[in-house]
Amino acid sequence: MLELKNINKYYQNGENKNHILKDLNLHVKKGEFVAILGPSGSGKSTLLNMIGCLDTPDSGDVLIEGKSVIGKDDKSMSEYRRQYVGFVFQAFNLVPVFSVYENIILPTVVDERTDTEYIELLMEKLGLQEHKDKFPSMLSGGQQQRVAIARALAAKPKLVLADEPTGNLDTETGEAVMNLLIDSIKEFEQTLIMITHNPEIAKRADRVVTLRDGRIVE
Ligand code: ADP
Repeated sequence: MLELKNINKYYQNGENKNHILKDLNLHVKKGEFVAILGPSGSGKSTLLNMIGCLDTPDSGDVLIEGKSVIGKDDKSMSEYRRQYVGFVFQAFNLVPVFSVYENIILPTVVDERTDTEYIELLMEKLGLQEHKDKFPSMLSGGQQQRVAIARALAAKPKLVLADEPTGNLDTETGEAVMNLLIDSIKEFEQTLIMITHNPEIAKRADRVVTLRDGRIVE
């Protein structure tokens, strides 16, 4: 499903060029749930951005279903993201002038493939039905995160990328969100790559990849 080949990434920091990702190689199978662990600053978010084509590596390649997604024009990259990837970030990135429902269906609108029945099901499972017409600012942080998760799953993406998706949630909501994500990947044979600091969540993954100082150490 996903292959990273010798990924290197540098960031300029004043006069210094920092080597952030160092010769990363990773193979992720279809349907696999991979947790990414590692100390703050080890390159986890940078890695997730490479996989999601939000940023490009300085060298190396990212292959999705055997095809390289690096070096494409912006249009092809955004098409790839729309068709393959669902993102859940720590910051919810909801559109403030759209309702909960409009935010959720956003990734399905451009390609006109909104499955309304499925959207209803997602909202029901995430306890969002009663909030569907509200604006994000009227919701708590936990509720906004649930909207962001529904939006990430709305287009039934093959790849779900999540950066600490339960970090801002109470234990019970966090567990419900994890259950939903795991149910979703099983049902739709999706691949889930999740950054987490939570060992309980890592236990539920098929595989744990540990990053340290830009390298996979485990
Ligand atoms: P993690 O997610 O493991 O905390 P990050 O991938 O966010 O780590 O960051 C890894 C390193 O790259 C950090 O030292 C961070 O300061 C640096 N970094 C991340 N993004 C940028 C950027 N856009 N410009 C410069 N440095 C960056």
